[in-house]
Amino acid sequence: MRKPVIAGNWKMYKTVGESVDTALALKPLVANSNHCEVIIAPVFIALKTVADRIEGSNIRVAAQDCSTEIEEGAHTGEVAAFMLRDIGVAHVIIGHSERRQFYGETDTMVRRKVHAAISAGMTVIMCVGESLGQRDQGMAEAVVRGQLSGGLSGLTAPDLDRIIVAYEPVWAIGTGRTATPEQAQEMHAFIRRVFAEGHSENAAQALRVLYGGSVKPDNISGLMQQPDIDGALVGGASLKVESFAQIVNYERT
Ligand code: PEP
Repeated sequence: MRKPVIAGNWKMYKTVGESVDTALALKPLVANSNHCEVIIAPVFIALKTVADRIEGSNIRVAAQDCSTEIEEGAHTGEVAAFMLRDIGVAHVIIGHSERRQFYGETDTMVRRKVHAAISAGMTVIMCVGESLGQRDQGMAEAVVRGQLSGGLSGLTAPDLDRIIVAYEPVWAIGTGRTATPEQAQEMHAFIRRVFAEGHSENAAQALRVLYGGSVKPDNISGLMQQPDIDGALVGGASLKVESFAQIVNYERT
């Protein structure tokens, strides 16, 4: 059984104080949500304070990125994975489409970040997904296959336990346009097949594949009914405590 993961990506929203307030308000609303792992990803500077303030709860804190570099060094503006681990952050989102689109992140950089995070003992949420143009040209699967092999090559079998993949079609992020549950399921099943080819059937069956792209309280249940959808990476709707709590506590049949 794959335990679902519902993760909120707060992007570059909320001050440290607002992040703490949001996390503390969320805590009681998800305290009994043992059916899934609950993760929130505030901005870097809020990570430690939020992690400290919700310690002992069932909410985990994730970083939204980490450096490609494993060791400390002269890399102005970067934060190493081991430094995140040191402040109690166990998860990191890597290769989000906004980083790929606006900050020139390539599959090579994603792979280096994945390795840095794994060597620091972190769990990675690696994002993949095609643009609308790529989907319209029938390239969606080829793009996702390339991102999976580009980002995840060179990992050992035990490393794979610490990989979560988030399928986030770029055309569905922040647009209000969600992939239908069937469209998402098709790509999730494809991701699992590619993972089986590249690694093993066992690893593929254990892999959690999250869907991301305009997930909201009213569409989460339909998505979660699909056999290969193991949770969600939520952007906009995770910023509001009530809507994120409703997503975490989606109707289960
Ligand atoms: C995201 O940024 O990961 C995301 C899925 O955003 P949204 O839910 O706002 O589409």
